[in-house]
Amino acid sequence: MKIAFVASEVFPFAKTGGLADVSSSLPIELSKLGVDVKVFMPKYYHIDEEKHGLHFMWTLGNIPVRVGGKVYEVQIYKSKIPNSNVEIYFIDSPHHFHRQNIYTNDKDEDERFILFNKAVIEFIQRIHWKPDLFHCNDWQTGLIPLLVKDNYSWDKVFDKTAFLFTIHNVAYQGLFDRSVLEKGEMNPKYFYPMGPVEFYNSFSFLKAGIVFSEMVNTVSDTYAKELLTPEYSEGMYGVLREKGSSFSGILNGVDYELWNPATDNLIPYNYTPDNMGGKLLNKKWFLRQLNMRFDENIPLIGIIMRLVKQKGIEILMEALPGLLQLNVQWVVLGTGEAEYEEQFLKISEEHYDRFTVRFGFNNQLAHQIEAAADIFLMPSHFEPCGLNQIYSLKYGTVPVVRKTGGLADTVQDWNEYNAMGLDTGTGFSFSEYSGAALEHTVRRAIGDFYNKPVWNKIRRNGMLKDYSWRKSAEKYLELYNSAINKRNSQ
Ligand code: ADP
Repeated sequence: MKIAFVASEVFPFAKTGGLADVSSSLPIELSKLGVDVKVFMPKYYHIDEEKHGLHFMWTLGNIPVRVGGKVYEVQIYKSKIPNSNVEIYFIDSPHHFHRQNIYTNDKDEDERFILFNKAVIEFIQRIHWKPDLFHCNDWQTGLIPLLVKDNYSWDKVFDKTAFLFTIHNVAYQGLFDRSVLEKGEMNPKYFYPMGPVEFYNSFSFLKAGIVFSEMVNTVSDTYAKELLTPEYSEGMYGVLREKGSSFSGILNGVDYELWNPATDNLIPYNYTPDNMGGKLLNKKWFLRQLNMRFDENIPLIGIIMRLVKQKGIEILMEALPGLLQLNVQWVVLGTGEAEYEEQFLKISEEHYDRFTVRFGFNNQLAHQIEAAADIFLMPSHFEPCGLNQIYSLKYGTVPVVRKTGGLADTVQDWNEYNAMGLDTGTGFSFSEYSGAALEHTVRRAIGDFYNKPVWNKIRRNGMLKDYSWRKSAEKYLELYNSAINKRNSQ
């Protein structure tokens, strides 16, 4: 089976969130299952050609791609995803991708991704590679199904090509004014109220991706259910309900080659469920780095997240005054909206002895926090899958989460399971989106932190969980097959 996997970020080349992790781990796992998968992403300015072994495909020359009536000469670079044989192709258009950030608020944000979508298609045509399916991810790839089925339908190479569209986060929809149609040379017949690309009078890349794909999925079962409701779907529930059984959830896996305390070389001390000594040493080492006091009986709470509303910062701020009364230490790593950075900074200045915050994107620090912390807090308002709570389980860092999306599917509340006579809980969770519920749940976790036999059991339960990609990759294969069958029976 031949799969063209298209995404706007792929680890380790470019990453702002979980999409990047998925876009390298899933293709690697698919290739282990015998799939011929090629990955496509933009070549952003910050991607270091030498470090990542990018080769310019000079035999192809320039590929002219027209956007907004202008022709841009696009070039292609090639490399492999590290520790695999998976080929990855980079679309290079300096005008569009040599910017400060991966995503921008620039006026031509729509054109950047129209170009990306068209260039991927044009490039595939030139290498005479006939994919059975395009796996498109999030709005930045949302035009590919429509363009292939309409603008490029003359090309028999795509005759039988099917589409799977994965929603990693419905909050990002790629909404622009209707001029996208002309810029992308798409047929205006698709734009009418409630039509396939129209969303409240705007052009929606996300809706286009959903409507023109044979199959659509998202990254956990619970989030798939939530997306069928007005509360969680940012207006997309009607469109998704219409997909019927063609819409489903597949939980993301994680890459234990990268995230495993037994082998992680970004942390000073490795450890395993049967030999936990290293975890405490990591905590001691880490707190010293931060100039914080080490005491094994003071719980250390870790937070790693994009500083955006989705992550529940609002209720965390409500709960913090109460929680800061407790003898607990905090470390926060995040980057995002200035307003939230200011709020965290203020707290860290007021409570410098127990609350440390680091801004910026720092992968090594993320690993060190996972290894050092006792508790990992993720009070998200919504969370399509969430990866850090899964990493936390593996690192024996007990997650405290709000019961939504993938958090609900991966963390079993210790007390709730005990009430059912089970001692298989792996963390703590709460449903109500409020500071009070969050504070209560953190207090519950801290209560059990002092009860060592119980705490060790919770940690061990989590560490023994297996969220590796294999099972999920097999489910993707099934979905690919269904999409291909559907396309070919149309
Ligand atoms: P989202 O995709 O919404 O950001 P996920 O939990 O699915 O949330 O994925 C977040 C990923 O990004 C994880 O791998 C996490 O470790 C990483 N991450 C988030 N913020 C930072 C940061 N400031 N520094 C390093 N890694 C980060």
